[in-house]
Amino acid sequence: MKKVSLLIPAYNEEKVLGLLYQRIKAIIDNIKQYDWEILFVNDGSKDNTLAVLYSLRAQDERINILDLSRNYGKEVAMLAGFDHVKGDAIIILDADLQDPPELIPQMLEYWQEGYDDVYAKRRTRKGESYFKKKTSKWFYSILQKSTKITIQLDTGDFRLLDRTCVDALRKIRESNRYTKGMFSWIGYNKKEVLFDREARAAGETKWNYFKLFSLAVEGITSFTTRPLRISTMFGGLVSLSSFIYAIFMLYDTFMNGNDVKGYPSLLVIILFLGGIQLLSLGIMGEYIARIFIETKNRPTYFARTYNGEKLSNHDSN
Ligand code: UDP
Ligand code: MG
Repeated sequence: MKKVSLLIPAYNEEKVLGLLYQRIKAIIDNIKQYDWEILFVNDGSKDNTLAVLYSLRAQDERINILDLSRNYGKEVAMLAGFDHVKGDAIIILDADLQDPPELIPQMLEYWQEGYDDVYAKRRTRKGESYFKKKTSKWFYSILQKSTKITIQLDTGDFRLLDRTCVDALRKIRESNRYTKGMFSWIGYNKKEVLFDREARAAGETKWNYFKLFSLAVEGITSFTTRPLRISTMFGGLVSLSSFIYAIFMLYDTFMNGNDVKGYPSLLVIILFLGGIQLLSLGIMGEYIARIFIETKNRPTYFARTYNGEKLSNHDSN
């Protein structure tokens, strides 16, 4: 019998876990041809998430609990999950029920047909502001233009992955993780299923615009070096035009003399170039910061316990 694991990262989700478990149970109890595992990764929650998880595990032994040593963020929590899931296929779900478990049977069908990565694409998004939808759309179109790899639109982490994909993702051990990009980057046979994204069932979103902006920068800088190329090209363009302008100025001064003009244009050009320089420095800084972090080569995370048993650091990761 093949094993299918649900992987659920959870950070301060005490309010929604009971409901989540009921919804999942209703689905997986009806799919008897697989052996099920539900792996919760507790990402350093500060509320009672862990206690709630243990009480669920007491009712249902299919539940496993990995407890990380602190809050690492969803991206790293997912990697920790990849390291500990046992399934031949895994399905990544958000704890807040924004990813309806009712889609699982359809995903499994495609998996049986031989697809390795069955991703859920949002037909609609409830409970998200107009501004969030628009900014997210812009971000993806910029990201797509900067790379040859196809980025899946309106797609989150909600997907079924075959074991081969999970093992591929485990080989990517960067600490600055943009998992959504990695799903595309590793390739394999992909298939989409459509769904309507619900609003969060309970609790609060952990995202704010500052975090989303960071994730966007993460996405671009971890995925493509195109911004560096753009600032090089821009530098070249500005140098070339100032060279041409210089020749024009020399010619004009010789022919017509010089009666000190052009203070405003001077100021505008200086400010403009100053801005571009700072921006390019910032872009370079973003990449250098990532080089800095990755060269330290630290383990991506530490996990405290698995099903309540202490994990030693001798051989973890
Ligand atoms: N999450 C996590 N660590 C964090 C933040 C979030 O594991 O530091 C989990 C969270 O518990 C949920 C999923 O990631 O299962 C998505 O989080 P959220 O619903 O806050 O994000 P949104 O759906 O608003 O993008
Ligand atoms: Mg959510």
